[in-house]
Amino acid sequence: MVPWAGAIKIKEVNMDNILNKLGLNLDEETKLTNDSTFSFDCYKGLSCYNTCCGDLDIFLTPYDVLRMKNRLGLSSAEFISEYTEPVIHHESKLPFLKLKLTEKGSCRFVTAEGCSLYGDRPLACRYYPIGFGIYKNEAAAGSDFYFLIKEEHCKGFEEEREWTVAEWRKIQEIDVYDDKNKVWMDIILNKKMYSPDLEPDEKSLKMFFMGSYELDSFKSFVFESRFLEIFDVDDDEQELLKKDETELMQFAHKWLQYALFRMPTMKLRQS
Ligand code: SF4
Ligand code: SF4
Repeated sequence: MVPWAGAIKIKEVNMDNILNKLGLNLDEETKLTNDSTFSFDCYKGLSCYNTCCGDLDIFLTPYDVLRMKNRLGLSSAEFISEYTEPVIHHESKLPFLKLKLTEKGSCRFVTAEGCSLYGDRPLACRYYPIGFGIYKNEAAAGSDFYFLIKEEHCKGFEEEREWTVAEWRKIQEIDVYDDKNKVWMDIILNKKMYSPDLEPDEKSLKMFFMGSYELDSFKSFVFESRFLEIFDVDDDEQELLKKDETELMQFAHKWLQYALFRMPTMKLRQS
């Protein structure tokens, strides 16, 4: 199983450690599908309200960074510097971002009323209390699964409201995030990234970080370097990339596929 657990709030990037910490043994009974049901509700008034927004690691996807920095009116560089810290994934060596916590270990966006940027909260917070797993083993591809993260302090599981996993994903707008992050998830799950012999060079790691998170730098790279002399990007697409950051982010992910794996996702100029 790949160690990336973008769906859960975790303390370490090592999936085995995560599961051990959560006391989870992922046998067939523990695994959930889209149709599986669970009882859960979360609202102000529960004695545990807000307790889950501290003492945790929240890993960020590119679309999380885009939504949060816009919500806060910051550039991507300002958001990254003020609100995140880098973490190196032990297996792939890739640099990811997680939210910086307060000295007391709380999320900086939690208030007495709940999450101060609820509409733009990260994917990990949307999934919670569901986690998801993806098999690295090709033979098991297509059988990705979910599981419940039942932490002792969480009273939500004592509530009667019933959900299917699919209903939970819908109400949390998880599909929207998964759609925007799809190519990026394919990149970080690419088996080439997990070869024991792979030692990504510094240039590749910098490209990965810029193409994943540093949208302003990537925009300058496209429009202020020789990028457009090398890659054939038509005028309409250039205009779109200038005014639509989500398109720019997804274009960055296609460029990463080309740059890291030489996939035919970019068109080179003939000359
Ligand atoms: S971003 Fe919002 S929902 Fe997520 S941990 Fe912080 S306060 Fe809680
Ligand atoms: S019910 Fe669970 S998810 Fe909701 S506030 Fe309580 S601990 Fe957090």
